[in-house]
Amino acid sequence: MKKFSWILSILVLAIAMVGCSNDASGDGGDGDKTVGIAMPTKSSERWVKDGENMVSQFEDLGYETDLQYAEDVVENQVSQIENMITKGVDILVIASIDGEALTDVLEQAKNQDIPVIAYDRLIMNSDHVSYYATFDNFKVGELQGEYIEEKLGLADGEGPFNIELFAGSPDDNNAYFYWDGAMSVLQPYIDEGKLVVQSGQTSFDQGATLRWDGAKAQERMDNLLSAHYSSEKIDVVYSPFDGISRGVISSLKAVGYGTDDNPMPIVTGQDAELSSIKSIIAGEQTQTIFKDTRELAKSAVNMADSVLNGEEPEVNDTETYDNGTKVVPSYLLEPVSVDIDNYEELLIESGYYTEDQLK
Ligand code: BGC
Repeated sequence: MKKFSWILSILVLAIAMVGCSNDASGDGGDGDKTVGIAMPTKSSERWVKDGENMVSQFEDLGYETDLQYAEDVVENQVSQIENMITKGVDILVIASIDGEALTDVLEQAKNQDIPVIAYDRLIMNSDHVSYYATFDNFKVGELQGEYIEEKLGLADGEGPFNIELFAGSPDDNNAYFYWDGAMSVLQPYIDEGKLVVQSGQTSFDQGATLRWDGAKAQERMDNLLSAHYSSEKIDVVYSPFDGISRGVISSLKAVGYGTDDNPMPIVTGQDAELSSIKSIIAGEQTQTIFKDTRELAKSAVNMADSVLNGEEPEVNDTETYDNGTKVVPSYLLEPVSVDIDNYEELLIESGYYTEDQLK
């Protein structure tokens, strides 16, 4: 009898061990691997969602996570990443604040054999960026430009219309892709005089908004309106990001736009942030770009999991994203344009927001 229970205990133990090892090899995460996730700021809702989505998806695979936000202060992000390296994380997933400021800290990661995945924003000037998970950033700008083209009937010869142009942060590689994508559609109409930039500020540098700061955009819009639109009406504002759009809209409202007699111009945006969807419903902002952060997180999590398991991650672009040192193999997701006509289908029916959140 004693012998029987002894055999039984061994059997139970053996079954338990097989169970454990299946668990570990099944998903790659074995509970003792940690992913360092460095995000730019909590001040924009999208990065909060990105962080939460990654943490839950990594945890589902059995990884531990160390998620840090740097409130758009470059030095803070650098020291957060240094700490992660010192603590010995197994892989880093980074959405940079300044894409040009991480060369040295990535060298430290390289020395410790810690692979790096660039998240949403390309990290420049380092050969130690293994992969890049992002959206088709040129397409984002193109969709914004095409929206303006269609709403104004530019392709049918309508015009001229007054437009002012905003660009993103000059230290974010994405900002140039958005601008180039939008200008690929808008520039011919500017050249032909169907879109008129009363301020004459038509270059990226003139439209740039450091750190994507809505308050800076508002200030610039105040200046543009008072200097160039006391007798002219503005018909369109090209804005690459919801936070900038909200700054622009505050400025427009302050001088009386947004009434029946004086309607809001077309204002584009990006990220489908909750407050901007509410603004679209209220008839203030006109459009935004939906980039499903659940999908982006999934793509980065799959990449990291593959790298940690010694496998080749799935990529679909090996040409576009040159970071100055190498072309970084990338996985590009598809952005979608959102306005009053399709927000319910794209954002509520897909479960991104609930109806209650939009009230
Ligand atoms: C992201 C955009 C975002 C912007 C401001 C860009 O790098 O790709 O989705 O609107 O940063 O946070």
